[in-house]
This record gives sequence, structure tokens and C-alpha cells, in this order.
Amino acid sequence: MHEMGMVLNIVREAEKQAQMYHVNKIASLTLEVGELTGAEPRYIRNCWPAATENTILDGAELIIKEVEGLVTCNDCKFVYRVLEHMTSDLRPDCPKCHSEKWTLKQGRQLMIDEIGVIDEQGDQ
Ligand SMILES: [Zn+2]
Repeated sequence: MHEMGMVLNIVREAEKQAQMYHVNKIASLTLEVGELTGAEPRYIRNCWPAATENTILDGAELIIKEVEGLVTCNDCKFVYRVLEHMTSDLRPDCPKCHSEKWTLKQGRQLMIDEIGVIDEQGDQ
């Protein structure tokens, strides 16, 4: 299980961004999780409370946006969901032309999409 390391990286990244924008409390964090990262959203959620304890993210809501793993066929340019179209030895297999040449389009990212902040100096 490597989710804990991933979550700790996200926490550090969020702290850096918060510092940059002089934010001292984060209300929510939206995380893009690509299905090709191998990270399980439910494990990420399990790690979240411990990973954020005593950080700027303590108590912040975690919102996970799952991103499908998509590749583009190099031969016919068809875009398909790679986990649904694999050869028996787990290589991408284009459903249109059965080419095994492909380029990753999305799905390997694990990154912060949005940070929701509480403006403590603001008078609403
Ligand atoms: Zn193709």
C-alpha cells in the first residue's frame, strides 16, 4: 500500500501552495486521482485523517475526482479507456483497429485540482 506516501506528498504540496498565497486554513481539497496510478480512492480516504493531522489540512474535507485512464491509438487516433481494452498479456488493444501502439492521454495523474480556503481576515 503506497497511498500513505502519495497522500503525504499531496499534503506537502498543499502546504507549499498555502504558504505562497498566505492562506492559514484549508477547508477542502479536491484531488484528481487517475485510475492508472494504482491508487485506491478508498485507501486515500483512509490515510487522510492521519496524514493531515496537525497540518494546515487538519479537518479539511477531501474530495476525490476519479479520472479515467485514456489512451489515443497511434494508428487510427481513436481514444479509448485502456482498462477496458487490453490484450491477454495486458497491453492496450485498440478496439477499432487492434493496434497496440498508443499514447497516454490521461489517467496517471495524482494531483491537486482545487484548494478551498477559509478567509479568516475577511468579514464575509
Ligand atoms: Zn486504432
